[in-house]
Amino acid sequence: MKSLLITVVLFVLVAGLKAQAPQEQALSTKYEELTAPNFVKAVKQAEGVCLLPFGIMEKHGPHLPLGTDLFEARQVATLASEKEYCVVFPPYYFGQINEARNQPGTIAYSPEVIWKLLQETCDELSRNGFKKIIIVNGHGGNNDLLNYFCMSQLHSPKDYVLMVYKPNEDSVIMNQIAKLKKTNYDGHAGENETSMIRAIRPDLVKADQASTQSGVDQHRLADIPFQYTGIWWYAQYPNHYAGDGSQSSVELGNILVNAEVEQLSKLIKIVKQSDKIGVIQKAFYEDTKNPLKTKQ
Ligand SMILES: [Zn+2]
Repeated sequence: MKSLLITVVLFVLVAGLKAQAPQEQALSTKYEELTAPNFVKAVKQAEGVCLLPFGIMEKHGPHLPLGTDLFEARQVATLASEKEYCVVFPPYYFGQINEARNQPGTIAYSPEVIWKLLQETCDELSRNGFKKIIIVNGHGGNNDLLNYFCMSQLHSPKDYVLMVYKPNEDSVIMNQIAKLKKTNYDGHAGENETSMIRAIRPDLVKADQASTQSGVDQHRLADIPFQYTGIWWYAQYPNHYAGDGSQSSVELGNILVNAEVEQLSKLIKIVKQSDKIGVIQKAFYEDTKNPLKTKQ
């Protein structure tokens, strides 16, 4: 009876203490989860850094979800933002995917819409205090678009800097990967991507379907060298599948994800500490006002 009384007293005391000192909750890194007052705090804590994970809606072989690239980019961005605090923009999948318009589920917006939406998204992020934007791209078909988009930022002055995360090949990681790899050709929805989705969303991988179509390069334009044409992808991979997704492992997936998280979190840290890109960019914009005054 005495011990029950002590327990009750302790319980009341602890409950009282909890009520007096509400715990300061850590800020979410996810844009859409923040309240407006917490958003203001988040921009400050992130030191103006926002990640824009960029996916796409497209077929990924016969066995992976349409949103594969979105899942990959968001997982890498989210884990990196938890290592080095910054804010992660909500799901974004409005990119270049004309080459898969023949496949079910592809959402291919026009080039004008893609361009305007991306520019206005960046401009709006800047207006909300994010002066350092890092695009984390999960879709190979966006690579050329994003390089050109970044270069186009020099056309007129911006009050923010925009960059695309570009991971480096790390020799230690490459060795680990080589030991695990079972296939000698890999690409879209192949061994690497299947492994990544098995690590991120295993419930969405239809492993038994991976061999129902071929992901082998058809080499249909091999006899026309020295050129680039938009139809190259369809000519080589008509099934919108490159590689063999029947071979995969969660271990490989985790290595691939973690390697990207490691480098991205380092980039976030460096970008927080350094204003170099912004300073050089500002000097450039000044010089563009009158090229004749630029020192020759
Ligand atoms: Zn992909």
